[in-house]
Amino acid sequence: MGDMFSVKAEALRGRPGGKHGFLKNKRMRHNNTAHVTLETRRCVGCGECAQACPKKVIGMTDLPMHRHAHMEQPDLCVGCLKCVKACRNEALTASN
Ligand code: SF4
Ligand code: SF4
Repeated sequence: MGDMFSVKAEALRGRPGGKHGFLKNKRMRHNNTAHVTLETRRCVGCGECAQACPKKVIGMTDLPMHRHAHMEQPDLCVGCLKCVKACRNEALTASN
């Protein structure tokens, strides 16, 4: 019989994606939907994409020195690509 620590370690290993895998995936989802990818380094925070999105998928992070788009509700994206067309900085691209 294993002690408490090894039982807990076993439970963590059994978690889908593991603790850190889950965090990584969540961070990636902030910049992706099934149809579009956001490159925040190119984003100037103009908000045109959020205005263009008919499904309200895109939100804006608005902090001092830190303004850019993010995917607020990625599961609602229908792949219309209106956000890609609206972005003049090529910060949004269609996913393959
Ligand atoms: S592809 Fe369409 S639905 Fe998806 S985020 Fe862009 S504008 Fe919104
Ligand atoms: S349109 Fe482009 S530059 Fe403007 S907020 Fe959206 S992703 Fe950023």
